[in-house]
Amino acid sequence: MVGMGEGLRACPICPGCGSKKFRIISRDDEAMRVTVECTACLRQITI
Ligand SMILES: [Zn+2]
Repeated sequence: MVGMGEGLRACPICPGCGSKKFRIISRDDEAMRVTVECTACLRQITI
């Protein structure tokens, strides 16, 4: 399997600029949530 490993289940799209490139800020395994930051406009979203 792919070893990229942070377990993003879907490819989010930035609501601000439409970019699909994100980096992970934090993750909460218990809540199954990941906070990511758009690499283009730095908007943070939780998925
Ligand atoms: Zn963005």
